[in-house]
This record gives sequence, structure tokens and C-alpha cells, in this order.
Amino acid sequence: MEKPAHIVIVPSPGFSHLISIIEFSKRLIHHSNGLLQVTCLIPTLDSPSETSKAILQTLPSTIHSTFLPSIHFTKETQTPIAVQVQLAVTRSIPFIREALKALSSGSRLVAMVADLFASDALVCAKEHNLLSFVYFPSSAMTLSFCLYLPKLDQEVPSEFRDLSEPVEIPGCVPIYGKDLPKPVQDRTGQMYEFFLKRCEQLHEADGVLVNSFKGIEEGPIRALAEEGYGYPNVYPIGPIMQTGLGDVRNGSECLRWLENQVPNSVVYVSFGSGGTLSQDQLNELALGLELSGQKFLWVVRAPSESANSAYLNSQSDDPLRFLPDGFIERTKEQGLVVPSWAPQVQVLGHEATGGFLTHCGWNSTLESAMNGVPLIAWPLFAEQRMNAVMLNDGLKVALRPKANENGLVGGEEVAKVITRLIEGEEGREIGRRMQNLKNAGAEALQVEGSSTKTLIQFAVNLIGN
Ligand code: UDP
Repeated sequence: MEKPAHIVIVPSPGFSHLISIIEFSKRLIHHSNGLLQVTCLIPTLDSPSETSKAILQTLPSTIHSTFLPSIHFTKETQTPIAVQVQLAVTRSIPFIREALKALSSGSRLVAMVADLFASDALVCAKEHNLLSFVYFPSSAMTLSFCLYLPKLDQEVPSEFRDLSEPVEIPGCVPIYGKDLPKPVQDRTGQMYEFFLKRCEQLHEADGVLVNSFKGIEEGPIRALAEEGYGYPNVYPIGPIMQTGLGDVRNGSECLRWLENQVPNSVVYVSFGSGGTLSQDQLNELALGLELSGQKFLWVVRAPSESANSAYLNSQSDDPLRFLPDGFIERTKEQGLVVPSWAPQVQVLGHEATGGFLTHCGWNSTLESAMNGVPLIAWPLFAEQRMNAVMLNDGLKVALRPKANENGLVGGEEVAKVITRLIEGEEGREIGRRMQNLKNAGAEALQVEGSSTKTLIQFAVNLIGN
């Protein structure tokens, strides 16, 4: 009997990319009738975080995983985190080669699926004549932008942020240059060079799997499938989200507190796996939560001037000591603050949660949509401003607070926007639209749903390869 087809998955370091591709691997195996095998080769930057290790404990025994030897950067390196992540993959290529050599002697290797930031690893797939796919853990709108960027790069001589008209990305809501992903805000920088290279590599893959579904992003998904653009095959297979319990730090405290709250009364405040605010912005947010008088559950991180500073490492400082004097005492009947981490999926799934003030990371966005929770969009870095535009202008499922002339969202603005979301008619309308997205997402995942059918077709093609 022929051996099962074997797929190698290469994540990139960092919680939110790892969790997404791992959940994808689980779904792929689930829908393959035992005819596929999966091995995850995980590049590692410094040492794997406890959170990343916890994710792997949720893997079924049918999926093998290995952390590759760690790559280190000296502490003095000024290399941006996103670049470090990608360089860690590039420097792991010799280990990936070695692992592929070992695997190819005993199994029928057919394909490699690499995370967007790990797409340098696909060179190893080519060496073994494997099919090569990119797993894209963000929105179809971001994917449409990325596939379009090489053309924009040729056609636009200036910085995108200086364009007076919005950029028309195929299938997407028009977007001003300043709202495009962070790495393209300075075209002379190293980040831009890296980003453009990733976007060019997308065109060389045999296909791209995107964590989205028609019900949330019909326009971009339709555009991505149009033949005229000459794009690789795009497989919309979302919403893919955390399923295992993984990291449940502060879990019982949060859930116990939510149990005592009225349905739809609590605004959950969190900026993803590593987003941080400046000290001034942290103060204003605290002021606004208190002023709003609304119930809140806030995941607090120590402040930093760099918005993604906690992305790879959990912070050692006690974040609660950066809160304004007396804040915890004054708000003890109103809210709960927890340091650094909450069991987000369970919090969003709790009936007491009525709103989510989010940095608009794509996992957070999907998790909120799948629980029908309305949003306040507070983007920080990466492609989050673009997601915020889609959520606010396009889907109309988010309110967006305005920053003042100093670039800060003031306390009164925070209070106003939270009250509009939790108490206002606007909030209720957003809630209804979110409910529609939730239903559409659930439908996409049913046996006959669009995303399940796409995933099964993908698996069948690999099995028959
Ligand atoms: N997350 C969590 N608890 C937290 C903060 C984040 O479980 O306190 C999870 C969240 O559920 C999501 C991921 O971390 O799955 C964050 O991913 P996202 O794409 O939203 O943002 P990123 O971390 O990439 O900025």
C-alpha cells in the first residue's frame, strides 16, 4: 500500500503566527481521513516561550513537531522584531535541510507549507521537488495588498503615505497610504525591503492558504480568484482560531469575575500577544475606563515606546505598577486588571463580554467575530491600521476613537467610545452585524461550508500528488 502523503509545516517564531498555522495543521489532519502526515519544523528565536510550548501540548499525536536549534541576536542589535523573526527562519535553513533529508528517506514527502514570515524556507521545498505553499495568517485584504505591492512599487515613485488619493487594492475598501502596513511606511528602510521580498515570494508559491472566509471578506476573496491578475491559487480556509486551552494564565480569576457580571456589560481590553502602549497612553486609557463607569477586564502590559516590544518575550516588570496611583483601588468594583495575559478566547466567548477594545490583530478580530463581540479598533503596528479601516469603514463592526493633536487617544474620548459601544444604539447595530459575521463564519466551517470544502480539496490534491 502506498505511504500516506507527508506535509512539512514551517511556522515562524512568535505566538500569533505559530498558533494559527498549528490550528491549520490540526484541521488539515482532521479532514484528511488518515491519508496525510504532518511534521512541524519550528524555527526558534532565543528560546521558545512558555506560551509557544503550551500550544504544542495541544497537538494530536498524529502531528510531529520539533523546535529547531535556537537562533540568537546580540542584545545590542537594533534589528526590528519582524526582521529578526524572518532572519531566524533564514538562518534555520540548514536545520530544515537536514530534517527534510532525514524525513525523505522514510516517507512520501509531497509539500511544504510555510508561514508568510517563513517563506524563505520554501527554497528547501524546491530542492526536494515538493509543492510549496504559503500560509497567510492575516486577512484576504492584506493578502490582496501583498500580491499587489510589487506592481505598486514599480508604479508609485513617492512614499505611499504622501499620496493624496486612497490606494485601490483589488477587491478592497479604498485605503489611504498612511493606513497601509507599517513596513511600507518608509520605503527606504530595511523593513520595506524585507516586506517587498515576502510579497514577491508569494507569487512564486504553488498556492496561498489564507485565514479568511467569504462571509467576512467577499470582495478581496473574489478579486484574489480572478484570473486576470496572474496570482497563485488562493485557498480561503478560515476562520482558523485557537481551540486548545493553551496558555491559561489568570484564567480562573478572569472567568470567575465574569461570572458575576451582567450579560453584554463588560468591555475586554487587550492588545494582542505583545502589544504595548506608551506610559502617557496607558494613563489616558486608565482614565477613560474609569470615567466611562462601564465594567472592564483589562490585560495590562508594562509601557514601552515601541508598540510591539513584548511580541517575543514576556515582560519581567510587574505591569500593574505602571497604572495611575490608586487606580486599582478606585475601580475595584468596576473592573478587573490582569498582568500581561488572559484566556482571550474564553473571555470573548463569555456572555458577560459585550465589547472588545482591540489592537485589531487578525486572530483577535476573528475570535471576536466568531463570538459576535463588537469592537473598538485601536491599531498599533503591522497591518493593524488596515484591519481597522476594514472593520470600521468596510464592515462597520467597529468604532474608532480619535487621537488628539499629540497622537494620544485622550481619556474622555476613550470613555465616550466605550459608552457608545456598550450602551448606545450604534453598539447594538454593530452587535447585529457581528452576529451575522459569526453565523457566516460558522457556516464556512460546516461540513458543506466553503472553507471546509476548500480545505478538503487542498488535502485531496496533496494526497493524490
Ligand atoms: N491572546 C491571548 N491572551 C492575551 C493576549 C492575546 O490568548 O492576553 C491571544 C489571542 O487570543 C490571539 C493572539 O493571542 O489568538 C493574538 O493574535 P493577534 O493576531 O490578534 O495579534 P498579535 O499577537 O499578532 O499582535
